[in-house]
Amino acid sequence: MLKLENVSKFYYNKGIIASGFTKINLDLKIGEFVAITGESGSGKSTLLNVISGLDSYEEGEMYINGEETSHYTEKDFEDYRRKYIANIFQSFNLVNSYTVYQNVELVLLLNGYKKKEVKNKILDIIEQVGLTKFKNTKVSKLSGGQKQRVAIARAMVKDTPIIVADEPTGNLDSESAKEVIEILKKVSKNKLVVVVTHNIEQIENIATRIIKMHDGRIVENVEVKKIEEEKELEICKYNNMSMFNKYRLGIRNTFNIKSKFFLLFAVFFFMSSAILAEYASFQMSEKESVDEGYSIAFNDLSPNRLLINKYNRNSFTTEDYEKIKLLSNVDYIVEDDFFIDSEIAISRENMSLYGTLQDIETIKGNIDLGRMPEAEDEIVIEINKEHYYITDKQDELLNKTFSILKSSGMDSWTNDKERDVVIVGVKYAQDKNSYNCKFYVSNNILRELRTKMNQNYSNVKLFMNNKYQQYTIEKSDKVESGTAIIEDEFKYEFKDYKVKNQPMTIYVDNLYYQDELNLSIIGTYTKSNFERLTGFNNYDSNRYKIFINTDDYNSLFDKPSYQSSVYVKNEENIEQTIQELENMGIHAKKVTDFKVNQGEIYQRIIKIIKVIVTIILIIVLFFISYMIIKIVLKSRNIYYTTLRMLGATYKNVRRILDIELFVNSTLSYGILLLIIYCAKANIIPLEYIVKLSEFLSWREYVLMYVILVVIARLISAKFAKKLFKNTTINTYNEEV
Ligand code: ADP
Ligand code: MG
Repeated sequence: MLKLENVSKFYYNKGIIASGFTKINLDLKIGEFVAITGESGSGKSTLLNVISGLDSYEEGEMYINGEETSHYTEKDFEDYRRKYIANIFQSFNLVNSYTVYQNVELVLLLNGYKKKEVKNKILDIIEQVGLTKFKNTKVSKLSGGQKQRVAIARAMVKDTPIIVADEPTGNLDSESAKEVIEILKKVSKNKLVVVVTHNIEQIENIATRIIKMHDGRIVENVEVKKIEEEKELEICKYNNMSMFNKYRLGIRNTFNIKSKFFLLFAVFFFMSSAILAEYASFQMSEKESVDEGYSIAFNDLSPNRLLINKYNRNSFTTEDYEKIKLLSNVDYIVEDDFFIDSEIAISRENMSLYGTLQDIETIKGNIDLGRMPEAEDEIVIEINKEHYYITDKQDELLNKTFSILKSSGMDSWTNDKERDVVIVGVKYAQDKNSYNCKFYVSNNILRELRTKMNQNYSNVKLFMNNKYQQYTIEKSDKVESGTAIIEDEFKYEFKDYKVKNQPMTIYVDNLYYQDELNLSIIGTYTKSNFERLTGFNNYDSNRYKIFINTDDYNSLFDKPSYQSSVYVKNEENIEQTIQELENMGIHAKKVTDFKVNQGEIYQRIIKIIKVIVTIILIIVLFFISYMIIKIVLKSRNIYYTTLRMLGATYKNVRRILDIELFVNSTLSYGILLLIIYCAKANIIPLEYIVKLSEFLSWREYVLMYVILVVIARLISAKFAKKLFKNTTINTYNEEV
């Protein structure tokens, strides 16, 4: 059955060659019970390891069933072990975190048996070794003798033709040793049993052959009992491990050692949450630096604000606004958007409030104090609830008359004439940090102010007597519409001093529009008729002015809006809204595009540094996690070499480990997502997490999960490869 011819085993260790055993000749048959003795270091273990295919040999030839094995690969030996060999070790080699039943079952699962079909067989064998009472006890809780009986049960359940036991009683008291030998005797029928022992008396009456080794050689080989006849050889049947069994073991391994489970769980959790948080906070700081810019022209730099004007430079009509409002993403329109950006003050006695004007139509929600306006000069103000005038001086606010003034700042679009309004309603501001107000006023007030603004910002020119002239134009109700009155002295410039019915054109030009007004000169004024003709009384301080009708004058400046602002509901779809507006002949531009960023180069450098730091952090995180996982797995080496000794292949080990890491990482990632979800749903109060999570889309979550799974797979592949780099026994020795 098993034949060795001049087989030698050498150890190469850092350049030094040591001999394990030399020129061994043996011929062992099924039915034999072989006892090997000899002093420590004589080569007994080495011989057993070679016989059982756990270790390689360098010289000679070993025959299995007549077949040469010198050309065997690691895979062939794996196959051989699965078919022929069951090992029993001095140090038991059990999986301590498994129960007795699971330890015995493990071999069968590795050999492709179904869990159900082997149950009775396992229970039967556990009964035979007398451990039924302990079948669900973890092996780590058993005594030495009990452990060795589990190991024997495990060797028996596989039903291999050869059982190899290396000092199975070496760690046992004499009582337990006796029991173990008894069981071995029972098992040995129809098998070849090779036992190394120091205590030859124990097995004298069982052994059929006694071999004595000394210094790597066989010095005695005596057949003490003749075996009747060579028994028929029955090799062990086995299948490849089923996927189902791999999952069963992978999942069992995930949870069977609590500390290991929690450590791996924590590492995966820490790694994924740290990477996600790092990524999100990077995105957040990116967004903040974009938001940081300022603009001279625009106060309100909301990302959902679009500035619009018409391509043909015409003013907006009511129909235009109606059409724009129909676009699905449009929230509301501010027709006179100039007022959003210009700070004004309203004041009364020594009280002043600062803020911006807004159309009363754009007010949202209910007001908190007072009522909505009913008359044209009534207004609602939006103000911080903590404002002094709300907390302490409410009585001085409601139903009091205020004047709209230009703000103390640089804006000078209002003229000196004040516009009186009455505050009838108060609405509390959403933004608790801002002490700026909003003044909701009627459309007519806005129109009035817009007219004033147009006057103050326009370039006004006069064409008279065939040339452009620079004279101040003044409006007067005394002057008839369509006409103008000029200073009497001007007549000398005209041909034949004829002024009456001469044409005059006034040109107005500003940022938004150009307009002109054709008039005819109706006469001239002198000091004596000045007040009668113009309605003004101080001739000397108004000399050389041109007087025209008030309504004529106003028609030049009382214009609808040429530029407005659209506020969109969802800023993510703003580009689409821009496109829709463009299709309507309306030019739209994001107000944020007008932002100026100070020190752009400086910001770019900061950004590069941030990217680098983020990448380094993520790499470091990977590395730390990888190291910890490796250390955790290292503690699992014994388990996996045990699997290997029991016949698990590289692929088996890799898959089982894959599943274990996959289950663990998925679980920890799932918990992380659950926590984020609960934070978002306000079930647990984690404001910062909610804030960060706004910068993560489902894409990032999926990507993170993929990364996690890939890392887990890489680790298991690397670990499995390392485990199979060497012969089984070397791997085992390295690790123990
Ligand atoms: P025994 O089991 O009889 O006590 P071993 O088979 O363990 O003896 O050892 C036989 C010889 O091989 C000893 O000289 C031992 O030092 C050597 N040896 C065993 N294992 C190794 C190893 N991994 N590397 C180098 N030498 C080894
Ligand atoms: Mg030994």
